[in-house]
Amino acid sequence: MEIRSAEEIEILRENAIIVSKTLAEVARLIKPGVKTITLDKIAEEFIRAEGAVPGFKGYRGFPATLCVSVNDEVVHGIPGERVLINGDIVSIDCGCQKYGFFGDSAYTFPVGEVDPDVRNLLMRTKDSLFRALEMAVAGRRVGDISSAVQEYVESLGYSVVRELVGHGIGRQLHQKPDIPNYGRRGSGAKLPAGLTICIEPMINMGAKNVVQSQDGWTIRTADRMPSAHFELTVAVQKEKADVLSTFRYIEEVLGPSTI
Ligand code: MG
Ligand code: MG
Repeated sequence: MEIRSAEEIEILRENAIIVSKTLAEVARLIKPGVKTITLDKIAEEFIRAEGAVPGFKGYRGFPATLCVSVNDEVVHGIPGERVLINGDIVSIDCGCQKYGFFGDSAYTFPVGEVDPDVRNLLMRTKDSLFRALEMAVAGRRVGDISSAVQEYVESLGYSVVRELVGHGIGRQLHQKPDIPNYGRRGSGAKLPAGLTICIEPMINMGAKNVVQSQDGWTIRTADRMPSAHFELTVAVQKEKADVLSTFRYIEEVLGPSTI
């Protein structure tokens, strides 16, 4: 596990703010009738105008700036000609790179009027992320973050995706340690101050099982029920996590009830 200097954390914060603002730019456009490729185009333009480059494009061959995952798609959806319709949910995952460091953040948006049960899935998944953030404190362990997510969402009848996890972030998009969304309290590596990580619960309304689609990227639920995904970047610090990315810009665009 790499520890970041205060200067490096500020560079990571700049990247985190760029992805946070990009998500808000995308939020402006999310409505029934919009093509997912349109969202991708706007995101790429915005990131480049900020002097950064898209963090996902070309990463292991991924073809786009955003991962756009609709309804039963969990993560890694490829933007394209698909048109969002009323009642969809759409997870937007965004990465960027500037000054040699990465940003990475995700938010799942409702499209028009969404079924109340699905809306609840989104709200609770976001809540689980904020519960996990409280555990990103020096001296706690990875399992404290993991169990904060798992215990909360399972108590609500949801399930935690096992195959995909949060991660360290720095000069690489994904680095040590893995931050699973399931695990035992008090287990795993001890978190040092200055560790920078992405916490990203991926929570299914139905069973936990996922499958990979024919395109080689998109991960969707095996039972085709909806899945939600929220992600923030944080620096572990003493007493309280320093949350580097933010949903504040999304809230400015969509108003206080973003879901
Ligand atoms: Mg991400
Ligand atoms: Mg991530």
